[in-house]
Formats: sequence, C-alpha cells, structure tokens
Amino acid sequence: MQRFSGKSVIITGAGSGLGRAAALQVAKEEGRLTLVDLNETGLKETVEEIQAAAPDAEIQTVTANVADEAQVQNYVAEAVKRFGRIDGFFNNAGIEGKQNPTEDFGSDEFAKVVSVNLNGVFFGLKHVLKVMKEQGSGAVVNTASVGGIRGVGNQSGYAASKHGVVGLTRNSGIEYGQYGVQVNAIAPGAIMTPMVEGSLKQMDPENWEEVGKQFVQPNPMKRFGKPEEVGQLVAFLLSGDAGFINAAVIPIDGGQSYKY
Ligand code: NAD
Repeated sequence: MQRFSGKSVIITGAGSGLGRAAALQVAKEEGRLTLVDLNETGLKETVEEIQAAAPDAEIQTVTANVADEAQVQNYVAEAVKRFGRIDGFFNNAGIEGKQNPTEDFGSDEFAKVVSVNLNGVFFGLKHVLKVMKEQGSGAVVNTASVGGIRGVGNQSGYAASKHGVVGLTRNSGIEYGQYGVQVNAIAPGAIMTPMVEGSLKQMDPENWEEVGKQFVQPNPMKRFGKPEEVGQLVAFLLSGDAGFINAAVIPIDGGQSYKY
C-alpha cells in the first residue's frame, strides 16, 4: 500500500521540469494520473519516463492551455470521467517571460505571463475546488516562486503573477479548509529545469553555464535545487501526510529567501 494508492491526481505543466518530477514521484507511489500540458511531445516523454519507472501506473494525458478556462474545465472533467474523483492537484504550469526592467517590459508580455501564471492557476482552483468540496476531501499545491515572496528584478509579469498565486493560495485555503480541503503553495528558488536553463541563456547565451555557477554562489547551499527534491515536497503536501498544513507558502530554495 503506497501513499497514493487509488488516488486521482492532476498535474499541470507535466511535460517538463517540476511537473514531470512530481508526476514521477506520485506514479511511483501508485497514484492515478491526469497529466496536462500545452506541449504534447513533453507529455509523451513524461509518460515514457513514468512507464520505465512504474510500469503499472494508470495515466491519461490531456493537451491543454491552462490560460483558457474552457480547456481547464475540460481537463478537470476528463480526470473525473476517468477516475471518478480528484484527490490531489498540482496547479503548476507557468512561464517566465522575457526579462526586462519595468520601463522596457512589454505590455503584451506582461499580459501573457499573467494570463498563464495567474489566470491559469485561478481557473484550475475554481474548477477543481468545486469537485473537492463535494467530495469533502482533497489537497492542492499551487506553484508560486521565490519571485512571489521576494523582489527579483526584471520580471514584472512573473513577480505580479507569482505574488498573485500566493494571494490565491491564502484566499482559497481559508475558504476550503472547512470542507476538508487543503490549499498550499510552494515557492521554489532556482531549480535546474529547462525554464532556468532558458533564464540563464537570457542573461548570457554563450556562457550560461558559467553564469549559473556564479548565480548559485549567494545560495547557502551553493547549488541549484533538483526537480526531484521539489517532486518529493509536492508528493508530501498532496499525500495526506501533511493533513493540517493549509494556506501555507513553503519555500524550497536552500534557505536563500531567508538570507539578509
Ligand atoms: P518548465 O519550463 O520546465 O516546465 C513548464 C511546463 O509548463 C512546460 O512543459 C510547458 O509546456 C508547460 N506550460 C507552459 N505554459 C503552459 C500553458 N499555457 N498551458 C499548459 N502548459 C503550459 O519549467 P519548470 O521549471 O518546471 O516550472 C514549473 C513551474 O515552477 C512554473 O510555474 C514556474 O514558474 C515555477 N518555478 C520554477 C522555478 C525553477 O527554478 N525551475 C522556480 C520557481 C518557480
């Protein structure tokens, strides 16, 4: 008997990085997965990785844009149709956007980043929480960021959207706790995924690996986080082992956000 035996879990942004790592962890613990991403190829790769590690895993994939409410409604309906319920939801898909100081930050870019990172998380909460309330149980993890609890710079869209995710988490957490539903957020620091690689390449396309080494020097642990470390945290928060943690925002950043 594993922590996710018989449980239905939706993961958005499951075609890469943190979503893929969480999917792998939940699948190893016998979760039944609805994996959602805009990128169909990424989803296929995630399924292949899971099947190599957990051949009996029950998985369905839904290609969807989380910024489109009708597509969000559809992935929620697909999860309920296939598995009859939703026990866990990793509301995680997100983009960084093009870095620029505020005066040069593209207004279209701002709208795009907010649309995916904030509207997408809101639509997910809206449609999944309805199901969990009716069940009288469930756990949600939203992906915020250290950029949602601290100023980072050059990221107007990302900062606004991730601070917004923190607000949505606290708001929904206090609303739905009474129905046996937990809503928490994680605030990752720099975790080595394709998104962070892209971010380092924005800083210096030629020497991004060197930039990465410099980048982690201020971190108390002097390294990037690993996607599987985030996958473990997400699995804990979704598993029921974290039953009295609600409306919390949990940094996973080697301690960097606590450093003066
Ligand atoms: P990633 O780029 O590796 O993965 C993100 C996934 O989301 C991709 O598969 C992408 O196709 C998908 N996606 C993007 N827009 C989408 C949309 N509109 N609809 C559906 N799917 C969409 O990035 P990651 O590092 O795994 O990031 C996952 C989440 O973690 C994001 O919300 C990101 O902001 C957050 N985060 C990451 C870090 C980090 O250091 N990696 C730090 C803080 C927060």
